Amino acid sequence: MPGTAREGRAQESLPYLVRRRVEEDSSVMTITRLPSVHDCSATGCSYNHDAGCHAGAITIGGDHAQCGTFVQISFRAGLERTGVVGACHRTDCSHNDHLECAASAVQVGGRAGDPADCLTYAPA
Ligand code: SF4
Repeated sequence: MPGTAREGRAQESLPYLVRRRVEEDSSVMTITRLPSVHDCSATGCSYNHDAGCHAGAITIGGDHAQCGTFVQISFRAGLERTGVVGACHRTDCSHNDHLECAASAVQVGGRAGDPADCLTYAPA
């Protein structure tokens, strides 16, 4: 039985990301090589457990390089592994490469009044 349109998009996006990384780098890369969220002090986020990010993948963007995945819901969310940076819209960051983060890992936390900004953001 065919899945929903949303499921279809999710199934398409992951292989695309892996395929793109393989094309850009002749070595074999997998999604596990995406930069991890080393730590996150946004303890009010539903994906945050013990100051760690457990979202599957986060997206950074906006005026303050904020975490677009930050959410406050009444239940604990996420996976039993550390989240990674799936995408970043801050092309002015020195770590940004074609809307993806090339840093080895990032830190997320409060800055300038926002509860969850990318603290590794470094304007080029
Ligand atoms: S370090 Fe730069 S490129 Fe990486 S997630 Fe943060 S703002 Fe985006």
